[in-house]
Amino acid sequence: SFERRPLIAGNWKMNLNHLEAISLTQKIAISLTEEQLALVEAAVIPPFTDLRSVQTLIQGDKLNLAYGAQDLSPYDSGAYTGDVSGAMLAKLDCTYVIVGHSERREYHHEDDSVVNAKVRAAFKHGLTPILCVGEGLSVREEAAHVPHCTAQLDAALAKVTAEQVANIVIAYEPVWAIGTGKVATPEDAQEVCGEIRKALAAKYSEEIANGIRVLYGGSVKAKNVAAIMAQPDVDGALVGGASIDADEFATIVRFPE
Ligand code: PEP
Repeated sequence: SFERRPLIAGNWKMNLNHLEAISLTQKIAISLTEEQLALVEAAVIPPFTDLRSVQTLIQGDKLNLAYGAQDLSPYDSGAYTGDVSGAMLAKLDCTYVIVGHSERREYHHEDDSVVNAKVRAAFKHGLTPILCVGEGLSVREEAAHVPHCTAQLDAALAKVTAEQVANIVIAYEPVWAIGTGKVATPEDAQEVCGEIRKALAAKYSEEIANGIRVLYGGSVKAKNVAAIMAQPDVDGALVGGASIDADEFATIVRFPE
């Protein structure tokens, strides 16, 4: 993973208003040095309503933090009440957009074809999707987690070109490890992240697969991040609960120390 700059992305989920978002982003920025942020890319992924404030702070103060959104519409504009388009996120200079998070798949019934449409919408608007895949507990107990995740990956990447995919981020997030405190073992994370990279190599090329960052997500904390990051095919973490505590998140970003 030495040729891939690790990414630690904080998925704030439905937490923090725009004033709280400014405060947390400032605290994270103050806690990290330029040297630390040269080694590891750090991104904040707040709710939509916080994005304009986060953009103004990060760009105005030239903070070395990336930011993005938690979801996007597959459509560009129109009669889709409550949705937010990739064009709107691009206008806010978002770098990233999470696509296919298990909470979207579960609570909003997003299936593989919706996830694929959202991935393609992200690329259309110049956003980098952080594509989430991962199995539930029953699939893991049947030892079907690898084919489950590679099937989700394959479906999400339908009609995605090699040129586009070179810029994707994949997050392996076992559903049983999200928000549960049950972190996957480093070996579990490596197994699936490695298989995801193999699937990308088979679908596109070895060179493209070796350039794509594959993250692990699921109860990552300051105390367990280093062991997970030591795995060769794990290139970062998507952090939920621990991302809205500035000290904890900054400590995760400093994992190389
Ligand atoms: C997530 O929601 O992407 C996640 C990994 O959450 P947590 O870190 O809280 O398990």
